[in-house]
Amino acid sequence: MSADTAVKYVTETPEAEVERVAAWINTEEYKEKNFARQALVINPPHACQPLGAELVAHGFEGTLPFVHGSQGCASYYRSTLNRHFREPAPAVSDSMTEDGAVFGGQNNLHEALENAYAMYKPKMMAIFTSCMPEIIGDDLTAFIKNAKNKEIVPQDFPLPFANTPSFNGSHVHGYDAMLLAILQTLTSEKQVEGRCTGKLNLIAGFDANTGNYREYKRILKEFGIPYTLLADISETFDSPLDGTYRVYPGGTKLDDAADSINGKATITLGPYATAKTFGWIKDAYSGKHKAMPLPMGIAKTDAFLMELAEMFGKPVPESLKAERGRAVDAVTDAHQYIHGKKFALYGDPDYLLGYVSFLLELGARPYHILCSKGTKKVEKELQALLDTSMYGKDCKIYMNKDLWHLRSLVMTDPVDAVIGDTHGKFLARDAKIPLFRFGFPNFDRVNLHRYPLVGYQGVVNMMTAICNKFIDIKDETCEDQFFEMMR
Ligand code: SF4
Repeated sequence: MSADTAVKYVTETPEAEVERVAAWINTEEYKEKNFARQALVINPPHACQPLGAELVAHGFEGTLPFVHGSQGCASYYRSTLNRHFREPAPAVSDSMTEDGAVFGGQNNLHEALENAYAMYKPKMMAIFTSCMPEIIGDDLTAFIKNAKNKEIVPQDFPLPFANTPSFNGSHVHGYDAMLLAILQTLTSEKQVEGRCTGKLNLIAGFDANTGNYREYKRILKEFGIPYTLLADISETFDSPLDGTYRVYPGGTKLDDAADSINGKATITLGPYATAKTFGWIKDAYSGKHKAMPLPMGIAKTDAFLMELAEMFGKPVPESLKAERGRAVDAVTDAHQYIHGKKFALYGDPDYLLGYVSFLLELGARPYHILCSKGTKKVEKELQALLDTSMYGKDCKIYMNKDLWHLRSLVMTDPVDAVIGDTHGKFLARDAKIPLFRFGFPNFDRVNLHRYPLVGYQGVVNMMTAICNKFIDIKDETCEDQFFEMMR
């Protein structure tokens, strides 16, 4: 750094003091103080509610996500999705500013609805809120009714809306609230007595892995089960580059979503991300209903396939049985590189349950499990899973903690690797251990969202990434006499 660009500190700190503090924050003494902290959150591994709402909105045909609130907030959700998928995330905001905060945001909402409807020609606009209108108590129900009465948009134009206050819950709860609003709007008066589409309605939950959506579709195709994948973002965020820009690529067809209320069965694979939606579906939708864990690992994939077989009266296809056999073979070949290894995990409840199940199957130890927005129910379910295996012994769950807490844990009680998202790269670097970016968001590696983590293919993908990394580390760090061709 040249003398011109060198940072000039207001208060100089002696080098010895910097070194002392750097060493101190790795101690048990510091960990205790860190865990005693209450009024401060540092690097929480979750996003705010509206981001989850935006993800859902992108999963429906011709749908424009519409942020009632601040422009800066809208930029945050868009840029997070955009950086994770490396795809555009088109959404609009009514850009509330100071006057909106004082007088309410109805004028902003009406003007933006009129402009967005005329300019972007959506088939549906999914409206959700940032913090500001939630704090001042904007009445979305009345604002939207007034917009239709003033014919700003046609009376029959679908405008589902969700209150997504960010000072409460996380992106997972916003996903749930928006999905519920969209389904309630689209299915209104669409239930037909005696009608059955014969289809499965599948809900993935908050899942930013487009490969997972494709994997579900592939599995259902193998089974020959007709389906509607609700909030399907697989095309939206993984569309072909062919020289034509499309504002609304892919998404669940609105007609299919409307008819989903007459389905033969509905399964959610993200029960913690769809608790309210599924609660409503159980009362409102025809057919069978089942909330199942994310099919991560062999056992949870088995359970998913068995449920499909039972619900639709079809045997598990030979092709999927062969796939299972190949996954088990891959596990047998590779498990020696992961067996007994300790992991620190963080993420959303549905993903955490999947990671734990997968690791225990391989004889690995999900040693520190951290959830920044969890409940007693999640904790109980995680503990019950740990109790099913000898590898779960002495593994600990940390609810409502952040990544600065996790840093203390991995520095004082080391593990071999971390599973999470990009935000954990700092603590992984400090602890000199690898980070496996299976979660959301992932800003600093490419194409990972295209590799499924669910199903038998997901087992092979996750295990390959983990085991080869451990082998790389061995090759990079071993002494010359142990640098072998065979590993
Ligand atoms: S937490 Fe609130 S203020 Fe911050 S980005 Fe989310 S909605 Fe906006």
